Amino acid sequence: MQDDLLVVGFDLEARREVHVAEREPEHWKRLGYGGTGQLVCFYCFHGFEAPAGTRVSLVTRGRLGGKVRRHFAHPPGQAPAGGHGPETVWHITTKHLLAAWARSRPGVDRVRLEQWTEDRDRRADVEVLLRDGTKIALEAQRKLMTDDGWRARHRDYARQGVVDV
Ligand SMILES: [Zn+2]
Repeated sequence: MQDDLLVVGFDLEARREVHVAEREPEHWKRLGYGGTGQLVCFYCFHGFEAPAGTRVSLVTRGRLGGKVRRHFAHPPGQAPAGGHGPETVWHITTKHLLAAWARSRPGVDRVRLEQWTEDRDRRADVEVLLRDGTKIALEAQRKLMTDDGWRARHRDYARQGVVDV
C-alpha cells in the first residue's frame, strides 16, 4: 500500500470523513476543487502539517483500471511542504479499510467509524456490533505497542464488555 496516497477526505457539509471509494469520481469532483469546495483535505483541516481548520479543497485523481488507484490530492501548490505524515495517513486509511471490511462480513449488524477527535480517549477506531450483541473494537496499530500500553487498553475495553482486536 502506498502510504502517501490520500484516499480519505472531509466533507464540510456532512461533517464527516469520506473515503474516495464510497462514490464515483464525478461526485467528488462536484464537491471538490472547482466545485462546491466542501470536500477538503482531512489532514489539513484536522491540524496535521497545517493550522487546524485549514480548508484545502481536493482534486480527485486516478481512473478505474488505471496505473494509479483513485485518490484525492491537494491542488498544485496547496500541499504542505513534505506532504502529510505517512504514519497518520496510514492510520486513517487503515481505519476506513477495516470498516469497509467489517461491513462486508456476515453477522455484522452495525459498523461505526470513529470520527477523529483531538483528545482520543478510549474509543475504538472502528466499532463493530454483531447481530448476537457482541461488541468488537478494531484498532489499526502499526507501531510496536508496549505490553503495558496494550494491557491498559485491553483492560479498559474488557471493562466495557468489548472484545478488542
Ligand atoms: Zn492536506
